[in-house]
Amino acid sequence: MISRFSVTAVLFLASALVAATETSPRPGGIAEIELGSTAIPAPKATLHDRPLLVMARDGQWVAVAGIPLDTEPGDLRITVDGTELVLEVSAYAYREQRITVENQSFVTQSQEQLDRIFSERKIIDSALNSFRDVPVDSVALAAPVNGSRSPSFGYRRFFNDQPRSPHKGMDIAGRDGEPISAPRDGVVAATGNFFFNGNTVLLDHGQGFVTMYCHLSKIAVEKGQPVRTGEVLGAVGATGRVTGPHLHFGTYLNGTAVDPAIFLPTDTSD
Ligand SMILES: [Zn+2]
Repeated sequence: MISRFSVTAVLFLASALVAATETSPRPGGIAEIELGSTAIPAPKATLHDRPLLVMARDGQWVAVAGIPLDTEPGDLRITVDGTELVLEVSAYAYREQRITVENQSFVTQSQEQLDRIFSERKIIDSALNSFRDVPVDSVALAAPVNGSRSPSFGYRRFFNDQPRSPHKGMDIAGRDGEPISAPRDGVVAATGNFFFNGNTVLLDHGQGFVTMYCHLSKIAVEKGQPVRTGEVLGAVGATGRVTGPHLHFGTYLNGTAVDPAIFLPTDTSD
């Protein structure tokens, strides 16, 4: 028997498919998919078996999916309550960045350093993949510091000519010691002093929406602590693999890094 509910859901999925293909998200971007009226319970949506953030907007449930940077142009399949939905992902050429680093240990690591990096990676990944099932009403963020923002998200990087993973955040200019404020309410998912990222804070805003702050001179919060928008998380610094003080700001949805510019208001620093 087909219930009235499932027919309604199918109709909404069909219109969502059209809406989604029109926006054609890029790798490292987001896709917003309308899932039907909030008069029915929120549907469960997944991408690559990871749960997606679903929020209410103007009487509609909307799934907000982070599109992985390594997604090839073409079709991406999102599952909504067991039904597959096809999203078309467009091609996007991110720039190449070549960096010369004096300290060779930041390019080639010893076994001891590799062990440290491996255990730190587990802490970071666990925070990035956490899914706290609380209502989220928006993904808009305030700027964590007011410096100018480099459009460096997605850069394909080479350190001393050796290929490295792409740049998964936005670098924001800041003075050493300048306070960094929470861009949205959340809970501190992890803090640590990490080999590459230096002093780091990870903030969980709910339903897999996580933000990351790296190279801090000082950390002002503790794991598990709830924070409100504007509360100080720490201070800008130059710890970890950096050439000078700045904030590396990362934004993640469904465990995937997406361009922070998507969530921020227009840059008014200059
Ligand atoms: Zn960075």
